[in-house]
Amino acid sequence: MTREFSAGGIVFKKLKAGSAKREDLLWLICQHSQHKGWVFPKGLIGDNIKGEKSENTAVREVREETGIEGKIIAKLPNPATYWYVWQGEKRFKTVSYFLMEYISGDIKNHDFEMSEVIWLPTDKVMERLTYKSDKLAFGEALKLMDKLPS
Ligand code: ATP
Repeated sequence: MTREFSAGGIVFKKLKAGSAKREDLLWLICQHSQHKGWVFPKGLIGDNIKGEKSENTAVREVREETGIEGKIIAKLPNPATYWYVWQGEKRFKTVSYFLMEYISGDIKNHDFEMSEVIWLPTDKVMERLTYKSDKLAFGEALKLMDKLPS
């Protein structure tokens, strides 16, 4: 069994300056070009840059995959985990997600790894996400948001 470690971002954008209420937020969601699942942007830690910290991987992957520059607000308390099979071999992936706030950039500038990148209102995110581990991570992100001063 091979283990893999990735890091990614659950990125929100405030619709009204100063308001972190759920109804005033949009979330960055992507459709993976290959497996077609709707996911959060992420990538393998240390794949491109040896010794890269997970925070830096997360910010870089968000930038590269979606065209968006995000600022880390907090690390989610629990990583997302899942099994998948690649060329007959079982792999176990652990993904550290960071809650991030949009700073700048445009989803028009997303790369080929994502076939589509969209901003969705809070009440549309769960139904769009393909995988259970991402839904759990989004639930944790929402709980973290509730604790932030708005
Ligand atoms: P990374 O972005 O970490 O570099 P990747 O884009 O190469 O990874 P994954 O997104 O991990 O690859 O997809 C590998 C396989 O795992 C695909 O078959 C995909 O359908 C499946 N998969 C992706 N995310 C999840 C998940 N959260 N839960 C279960 N299976 C998933």
